[in-house]
Amino acid sequence: MTDRHALTQTFMQPVTARNSGQDTFLQAVEEVAADVLTIEKNNPDYATAKVLERLTEPDRVISFRVTWVDDAGDVQINRGWRVQTCNAIGPYKGGLRFHPSVTLSDLKFLGFEQVFKNALTGLPLGGGKGGADFDPSGRSDGEIMRFCQAFMTELSRYIGPDMDVPAGDINVGTREIGYLFGAYKSLKGQFEGAITGKGMAFGGSAMRVEATGYGLIYFIQAMLDHAGDTLSGKRIAISGKGNVATHAAEKAICEDGIVVTLSDTSGTLIADDGFSQDAVDWVRTQKQKGADISDPPAHLNLSFEKDALPWDQSFDIALPCATQNEIDANAAHSIINAGAIILAEGANMPLTADALDKIAQSKITYAPGKASNAGGVAISGLEMSQNAHGQFESADAIDQNLKKIMQDIHARAAAEGREDGKINYRRGANVAAYRKVADAITAFGVV
Ligand code: GLU
Repeated sequence: MTDRHALTQTFMQPVTARNSGQDTFLQAVEEVAADVLTIEKNNPDYATAKVLERLTEPDRVISFRVTWVDDAGDVQINRGWRVQTCNAIGPYKGGLRFHPSVTLSDLKFLGFEQVFKNALTGLPLGGGKGGADFDPSGRSDGEIMRFCQAFMTELSRYIGPDMDVPAGDINVGTREIGYLFGAYKSLKGQFEGAITGKGMAFGGSAMRVEATGYGLIYFIQAMLDHAGDTLSGKRIAISGKGNVATHAAEKAICEDGIVVTLSDTSGTLIADDGFSQDAVDWVRTQKQKGADISDPPAHLNLSFEKDALPWDQSFDIALPCATQNEIDANAAHSIINAGAIILAEGANMPLTADALDKIAQSKITYAPGKASNAGGVAISGLEMSQNAHGQFESADAIDQNLKKIMQDIHARAAAEGREDGKINYRRGANVAAYRKVADAITAFGVV
């Protein structure tokens, strides 16, 4: 057993015992632990402070009942959470996810990832995550509004611009943020930037909606540039049909990439000659309407393969942009067989541990989500500073800023990830983020 492996196993034993059954959380912790424990061991300040062990125990976990009335007049009860993981370098910051499958384990893993992601942005942002086991599919606008209001009735006690600043995530977009912010403002009697992803009419930032997907493309451009290559003419397979997937596709098309797939749980849309902007717009509209993508209009030149994954196509770059653990060992095998040169994560932890091992052993250059999908939270950080100053920047200025932030994240991960003449972006991102958070935690003493 290597020293690194033994250290990781010893570290994980009590963490696993204390969080039994929280598999996604343990998966996220183990992946970081394997990269940073040797750094912690070799730095007496970090080791004495037990930085990583502290980070595995969120500052606090808030769980609450959400009671609301559906259109039929029936009372509905859901469970809501906010996980405030770490505020060492700034207020807790991270999205809210509404999905029937959401568990505390998922929110703890997402909060944990967010601490490292947010540190990489270079902005003063701590980490957290929240959400509810609420299924918005098939719900009317009025039901969504009442759910958001009931959710915020509880959440509003625990958030604020210097305390905790939620934003969107899966199934929480501009509409839900509008309802959540409206409820917050009315409950508090104050107009303050306690949520990001707001509409432009009430304190939102230009480019926030586009930021995660566009930022992902800026990140892979930085990777390609570093390798003396370019995105132009590259075939790109994207999974997902949501905000991240469609904006990554849109930006890739603008940069002369050939987007060959988008997908959802029912199957994959394929465009062998590349999606047009019209085709991306159609997918976006279908998603907004809650309609499926299985029957595209003929003029868009798309074909739909039921139950297929994007990874059986021929492509150079894989961008998983759907959800956690969407790529298992078999899918990783397909990505390797497709001859991909880059796999960059638009979703948070889309690879299972087995898939990650397979990709690590291949020739593919892998970019972890905490680096490659940090564009969204980065523009949330800029939204917070625009709110604090009451001054707003143009879309062009924010876009330039986004590009620069993604290039800086790339540079931080590359500087810490040099290994045998190559770059290990996973290790580089974990170590760079860990050092920043660890320096703050050790400065505070034992608190
Ligand atoms: N949910 C996004 C993420 O995973 C954005 C969070 C935010 O803007 O606070 O990073």
